[in-house]
Amino acid sequence: MAERISETLQKKLSGRLGFYEDLGIGLFYRDRGAVVAPHGERQIETPETARLSTIEPQKEATLPKPARKPALQKTAPVVTPPVSPKIASLPVVAGPSLFEAVEKIAGDTLLKVREDLGECTRCKLHSMRHKIVFGDGNPKAELVFVGEGPGADEDAQGLPFVGRAGKLLTQMIEAMGLQRKDVYICNVVKCRPPENRQPEEDEVTTCSPFLLRQIDTIAPKVIVCLGAVAAKTLLQTNRGISQFRGEWLEFRGRKLLATYHPAYLLRNPPAKSEVWKDLQKVMAVLGLEVKKGKSS
Ligand code: URA
Repeated sequence: MAERISETLQKKLSGRLGFYEDLGIGLFYRDRGAVVAPHGERQIETPETARLSTIEPQKEATLPKPARKPALQKTAPVVTPPVSPKIASLPVVAGPSLFEAVEKIAGDTLLKVREDLGECTRCKLHSMRHKIVFGDGNPKAELVFVGEGPGADEDAQGLPFVGRAGKLLTQMIEAMGLQRKDVYICNVVKCRPPENRQPEEDEVTTCSPFLLRQIDTIAPKVIVCLGAVAAKTLLQTNRGISQFRGEWLEFRGRKLLATYHPAYLLRNPPAKSEVWKDLQKVMAVLGLEVKKGKSS
């Protein structure tokens, strides 16, 4: 007849076996599934019956102690380290400098940028958009216009600057002696901010690497920022646009000029003459003829 073990030892054994069982280790049982009851009936094994009826007290010394970490680690699930996103291959603003050059991606194309953007869900703007507005125009354009973000018309059509402000931009481009298909037009954010609010910092930060890649790929002679959001994003400055509007600045080795957004001109038509002066500077750099009599 099996010797009864003390209650303290029972508790101790029960606790330790419970600990092993929680770790998925059940090697200490003899004949776990077939504990024979004193009356010859098969008894359903419970943790208690298993612990108290099959382990002899003197066997305790042979049990692995909880401190035996290597044995336990073998059975523990393998934790896969989190996969880092591919941030190293994207252009990153490296520092506070306004015009600091960052790495360009060799062999990049607009198609690859568009593919990488995919059906983007990187920021909250994706949930309300209808269409991504990637950009439109000549992939080898000498002149790139950068706006803020799509409005309702752009969101519906998937094309930049096709609403009221877009019609004015088209007139400005034509006044320069160009057509829309000659230039490239894109925005800082590719999805419409709700109620046409300004894009928020996290949205700009998430989306602007794609804009930088677009600009690098097109490699234009001149970039025109339409409005403060585009200018502040590319120049990484908090200065108000009026402080540097119409001045030639440098962005990643290219000429950049910021001017007022066409939507602002719709609200403030007198500012059109300032914008026209700015565009004439651009025309001069691109070798476009300024037609006499076109002053506003
Ligand atoms: N305003 C912008 O900034 N971008 C557009 O595409 C349309 C309006």
